[in-house]
This record gives sequence, structure tokens and C-alpha cells, in this order.
Amino acid sequence: MTENSPPRPATLRELADLLMSLDDLLVSCMRCGLCQAVCPVYGATFREADVTRGKIALLENLAHEVVKDPKSVNDRLNRCLLCGSCELNCPSGVRIMEIFIKARSFVAGYLGLSPIKRLIFRQLLTRPRLFNFATFLAGVFQKPFIKLANKTVGAFRVPLLKPFLGERHVPSFPGRSFSSQRGTLDIPASSSGLRVALFPGCVPDKLFPSLTEATLKILRHFGVGVFFPAGLVCCGIPALASGDAKGFLKLTAHNLAELTKGSFDYLVTPCATCAANVKDNWPRFMDRYLDDEKKAVAAISPKAMDVTQFLVSVLKAEFKPVVPKPDAKRVTYHDSCHLKKSLGVAAEPRAILKSLSGYNLVEMPEADRCCGYGGTFNIMHYDISRDIGQRKRDNVVSVKPDVVTTGCPACLTQLMDLLSQNNDQIAVKHVVELYADSLPDQAA
Ligand code: SF4
Ligand code: SF4
Repeated sequence: MTENSPPRPATLRELADLLMSLDDLLVSCMRCGLCQAVCPVYGATFREADVTRGKIALLENLAHEVVKDPKSVNDRLNRCLLCGSCELNCPSGVRIMEIFIKARSFVAGYLGLSPIKRLIFRQLLTRPRLFNFATFLAGVFQKPFIKLANKTVGAFRVPLLKPFLGERHVPSFPGRSFSSQRGTLDIPASSSGLRVALFPGCVPDKLFPSLTEATLKILRHFGVGVFFPAGLVCCGIPALASGDAKGFLKLTAHNLAELTKGSFDYLVTPCATCAANVKDNWPRFMDRYLDDEKKAVAAISPKAMDVTQFLVSVLKAEFKPVVPKPDAKRVTYHDSCHLKKSLGVAAEPRAILKSLSGYNLVEMPEADRCCGYGGTFNIMHYDISRDIGQRKRDNVVSVKPDVVTTGCPACLTQLMDLLSQNNDQIAVKHVVELYADSLPDQAA
């Protein structure tokens, strides 16, 4: 457990003082407005308060007590996918993600967290056995609730849960998570001489365990040792995105305790969001960890990377481009924001796809434009999320693929929803799944 609780401002004055700690970052915004052109939320709503410049102005006004309505500032702050497009394109180098993440935690600390979020972030996600049991129950009892919506996509409607899920088309629960099936893994390094900590993240662990199996298969194919502590929990991004710094710190502390039980050269994940969160956000809260946790974060965060980056750039596995077979399937690739904008990984998954003779890579327009999912953003602002996602869907469909692939399970979920709702007959797969299918089966 962490000893230093995140600040909980009790008055507007205290909240303003906390926000003033971000003043140096806030004033670096030159109000040029170039972030407008790249912001997917602004592109859907055309509201100034939805773009970075508008949000920064609101935060400055709250910090200087010109505005005294933190609830409305919080609502505006939450109308953001944390996609990083604005930061990547900001000519003044404003550290926008740091501003947004810290400001969300200050404002949510003042307003308080809803009981349901508190329960999920601090009680469910931090208990791997309970979360696995809940996933198992969902898998067993979902049958009367779900109706197949699109077989090719593999998405379902859930009419009885319409008040909660709306019109969403979702994947089904497979039942048993990867962690409950496999338990802790401690496989020594073989031919590669390298050993990684496998960090699936909760979506690939609970919702897409076959994706985590595919990742494991590839690592073992290349003789990479694997350390997987079955007690790993969520990387903390849903809590952080909701401003729950306490929940985030609890999850991070739990993961650090699990990860420090073993040794490894890299922390590898098939989830772009987890990779970016471990690398960028875990160290952002350095002042809130215990001494042992600080050391662990300093040692582990720089080792975090996406699995395709590990295979291509670290392992230097050979992925030679091949001429696709005459009957090769057309595949198009969506750049997840966390993979390309946060981690700079774009060539690696494409190199892997081009090495597969069964697939012909065709680039879609705006491949790196956000899909609009954004985790909690999709839950809170589904109408905007779907508007943004429809543009992504149109770009996918325009190149007539058999398969759309990406490097982030969150994007997979959004693509499944959009393609299924449009009745498109396009399969949705993670790059790792396509590559693992090309490898010979191996002993479990
Ligand atoms: S691009 Fe950067 S400097 Fe310009 S308005 Fe946006 S955040 Fe401010
Ligand atoms: S992070 Fe993305 S959604 Fe949020 S303001 Fe920046 S560009 Fe817009």
C-alpha cells in the first residue's frame, strides 16, 4: 500500500492552490489553436471547450478562481480521449497529458468519486481472484442475455442490458481468463537469452484470453523466457482517467508487488494502452510511492513495451517482407493512439504483417486517426465516441479488407462495435493473433 495519499482538496481555495502547481505547464500554451485540427473530439463537436486550448483556459480560470464551478470544468476535462494527438502536434511542446491527468485527479479529489467507480477501481480491479470469478460468472450466465449480431466480427447485442450498454455490439465473455487458466508462469530464457514479464492487462486477460495465449506462443517460439505472476491486476488507466489517483496508486502498488517477485529484462504486453500507461503514467506519481515502490517504478517503467516493438526492435527477429499469395486476405491496420502517438510504434506491426504471405496489407486513409474509444470516454460519451468511430469505420471499409487489425484491445472493441453495427463483414484481429496463427503449434 502507498503511504502518501493523493491530495483531497476540501475547499475551492485548496483546489485552486493545487491547480496552481500546474501553472508553469499551463502557461506554456501559446493559444495558437493548432490542436484543433488534430483533436477527434473537437472534430466531432466543434466546441472550443472540447479542445486542449479551451480546457487549459478553463483550468487556468479555476486555478485563478475566475471560474468557481469545478463540476462543469470536470465535465469538460472528461470530454477527452487522452489520445495524445494534441500533445504530439503541439508546437510549444505543452505537456498536455500531464496537465490533464493531474488536473483530473485534483478536481475529482475535490468533487469525490461515485460509489460505483470507487467499488470498481478500488475493490474489484484490485482483487484478481474476485475479478476472475466475476468474469467466469459472466461467461456462464451471459447466454440468455446476448444475441449474435455479426458472426464475422464476433460481436453480440445485449438487449436486456440496453439501459447500461445502449446500442453497443460487444464481444462475449469467454468464461475463464488467461490468468485463471494458466496460473503463474516462470519459464526460463532459452535461445534468445532474454526473459520478459508478460503483462496482459485486464482486457486481454479477461475478455481476449486467446490474444494473451497468442502472445505467449510467439514469445516461446522465439525462445524468450516468460515471467507471468497470476496476481497481476489492471494497469490502472481506468482509475487514472476518472481522476481516481488513490485507486490508481493502489493498483500500481499491487502490480509492483507482483512484478518484483521475479526478474526480467523487459515488460511486454499486447495492450498498447497498458504499455503507454506503465511507461508514462506510473512514473508521473513518483512523489506518491513508498521508497521501495519508487525504486521498482524506476526499474520497471523503462522496460515496458509493446510486444511488436519487442519482437522487431529488441529481439531483432527476422520479419522479411514476402509477396502475398494469390488468395491472400486483404488486411488493413489501424494505428492505436497509445501505440503510435505515445510509444512511437508504427513500423513494427506493419513489418510483421508484411512478413505474412497469407495477408496483403492495404493501408486505409487516416490509419492513425483515433477510433474514438478512450475507455471510460466510450462509457460516458457514447454518442461522441460513435461519431468519431464512424469516420474510422468508413476509412476501414473504403479499402475493402477481409480483416482489420490493430495493436490495442480497446481499439479492437471499438472496431467490433462499429463494424458490427454497420453490418460489415470484416474480421477484427490483433496483429499478434494473425502472426501467432502462422506459427506451428507447440506444446502447452
Ligand atoms: S497546439 Fe499547444 S500551444 Fe497551441 S493551443 Fe494547443 S496546446 Fe496550446
Ligand atoms: S488528448 Fe485527444 S481528445 Fe483529448 S484534447 Fe487532446 S487531441 Fe483532443
